[in-house]
Amino acid sequence: MNSAVCPQSPVFCQNTMNYYSLNKKAPNTTFEDAVVRGLAPDKGLYFPESITPLDASFFETIEDKSNSEIAFEAIKQFILPEIPEDVLKTIVEETLNFDFPVVEINENISTLELFHGPTMAFKDVGARFMARCLGYFNKTNTKDVTVLVATSGDTGGAVANGFLGVKGVNVVILYPSGKVSDIQEKQLTTLGQNITALEVDGVFDDCQNMVKQAFMDTELTSKMQLTSANSINIARWLPQLFYFMFTYKQLKSKNKDLVFSVPSGNFGNICAGMVAQKLGLPIKHFIAANNANATVVNYMISQTYNPKPSVQTISNAMDVGNPSNFIRIQELHNNDFDTLKANLSSYSYTDDETKAALLELYNDFNYVADPHGAVGYLGAKDYLKENEAHVVFLETAHPTKFLDVVEDVIRENIDLPPQIEAVMHKEKVAIAINSYDALKAFLLR
Ligand SMILES: *Cc1c(COP(=O)(O)O)cnc(C)c1O
Repeated sequence: MNSAVCPQSPVFCQNTMNYYSLNKKAPNTTFEDAVVRGLAPDKGLYFPESITPLDASFFETIEDKSNSEIAFEAIKQFILPEIPEDVLKTIVEETLNFDFPVVEINENISTLELFHGPTMAFKDVGARFMARCLGYFNKTNTKDVTVLVATSGDTGGAVANGFLGVKGVNVVILYPSGKVSDIQEKQLTTLGQNITALEVDGVFDDCQNMVKQAFMDTELTSKMQLTSANSINIARWLPQLFYFMFTYKQLKSKNKDLVFSVPSGNFGNICAGMVAQKLGLPIKHFIAANNANATVVNYMISQTYNPKPSVQTISNAMDVGNPSNFIRIQELHNNDFDTLKANLSSYSYTDDETKAALLELYNDFNYVADPHGAVGYLGAKDYLKENEAHVVFLETAHPTKFLDVVEDVIRENIDLPPQIEAVMHKEKVAIAINSYDALKAFLLR
């Protein structure tokens, strides 16, 4: 580790993980500073200075460990001692107080259900983990932190829920008007307390661009401490590596090569899986399963990264035209295209293909998926046409979060789980905005 370039508290930096900006034009810094800032001052994403593989014994005995033990061991090198060991253990336990079951679809395909948390979105884990880290750091800060987050669907609800009632933290969520499901909208507009929802006249990329602009606005950032809770924030991004470990724990006894098909939008989840792989988890390959937003699929063919405005699909949490974490994926593969290509396949699917996959899962395997999981399933099937492995696709949201689509396709009514039922009767409260100036005016009110 390079303590010479750690400006904030050099003593501290010597025995802790440092984070550098992928734009390489900002000083290295601590976990705390990276979490509080979200983006580095040079607008780069933070990245850990080193990733040290875990002992082989960790993986040999993984089935004897609890999820919390696995998670603590896997993430501690990135965080200790800035957050003390006992506090980090508690954070991990509180974050992971629900199940992560692997369900077999057929002999070669399983799904990891990531929707058993409080908002039934996989982002619950990252949001809950980040909220608790920020809450810990904020105990000693006097200034409130404002978490600014753009959501294309699930992030908002998960972040809002994760941060609800955390002292010293205000959450402002931007979402594209009319482009999230009713349930998702209810989840992010009905909480109150320290959570405010801004309904943006635009698409997700407009929301994301406004958030980025706010972080670059020095007039704004000199007046308030802003941070992000999108997967650009390392405390949101890194804990997602737990999922891949939990899967291995459950499937290890199969003794088969393990491949993950990850329905991807901003590519944070899949990128965290690649960190798990760097930590020594035996993952053979990754599949990025995409909807019509195929920027990475095109890149893997042409080697030209050409971000596009996002297009709307039925898997709307993946409607991202310029995936923010792709740069981290490139860094993990030493910015070498061939290395990346050996580890990552990517496919893109239309809404019609996605609906057909939903129906196939239901008819052939009696499994009700959501549109994102269905895209993951398609990726698994395509990969298996040319390769042998056990492929796990991630089920990133509960099907009721996308009720209209799912019920329409399988022609069955799905019962609302209690977490969802509870919010549907609450009244939506949101402030409409249509420009960056309106966002700024709101923040400086
Ligand atoms: C956010 C989200 C995704 C995409 O995850 P990334 O980490 O942004 O790639 C996929 N499915 C659902 C349901 C989501 O909410």
